[in-house]
Amino acid sequence: MQIDIVTLFPEMFHGPFAVSMVARAVAQGLVSVNVVPLRPFGVGEHRLTDDYPYGGGPGMVMRPEPIVRAVEWAAARVPATPTVLVTSAQGRPVDQRQLQHWAEMPYLVLVAGHYEGIDQRVVPLLKAEEVSIGDYVLTGGELPTMVIVDGVVRLLPGVLGASDGAAHDSFSMEAGGLEGPQYTRPVSYRGFDVPEVLRSGHHERIRAWRLGEGRRAAQRRTPGAKDP
Ligand code: SAM
Repeated sequence: MQIDIVTLFPEMFHGPFAVSMVARAVAQGLVSVNVVPLRPFGVGEHRLTDDYPYGGGPGMVMRPEPIVRAVEWAAARVPATPTVLVTSAQGRPVDQRQLQHWAEMPYLVLVAGHYEGIDQRVVPLLKAEEVSIGDYVLTGGELPTMVIVDGVVRLLPGVLGASDGAAHDSFSMEAGGLEGPQYTRPVSYRGFDVPEVLRSGHHERIRAWRLGEGRRAAQRRTPGAKDP
């Protein structure tokens, strides 16, 4: 799989993608992640990437030409049709099913916005989908992009140790359930013990306990719900 990221701040990606899962997946050749700096695609001598909003209002808006040019430049190097995602607080909320869908695509391009956002014409021009990582506003699309790339890469075949590693994670389990709490050694720590059932070796009881805990966790997340 190929992932290209279009951003005004390429240096933000150096740390997060240099360690852990994404770095390992890249080293194993399971994915190629390429950060495309937006500035060289800027307009005119000063490589402008933003301008004042039509209709007035605070802040600046990212111009469409640099973004469209950068995505077209990136896509011209890859022999697959890109799935283009534009990060936006107004976009469709990302969920696990969506990540799974993108993990099956050969080529993803993510566009990180900044300032007051991106000129809306970018969306139809790039046949892009606007995606949000939650109902809150961040300074830029770099962190949302990292979240999406991390979530997608861990689903690629061979990235997690066991072949079905992600299948037991929250939201991937049967009926999209949650996983429930995990414990490791020591068995007793500052007065808190690992639940007896997990030490019982009784697989059926453990399975039932985990299922129940996952359900309780799901219920706790329901607005207004009390812990059952
Ligand atoms: N004025 C915009 C609004 O009210 O929706 C917020 C712009 S925000 C400061 C700048 C950029 O950060 C956005 O263009 C988008 O790329 C990114 N961003 C901020 N919050 C986001 C979120 N929850 N999900 C995805 N991207 C987000």
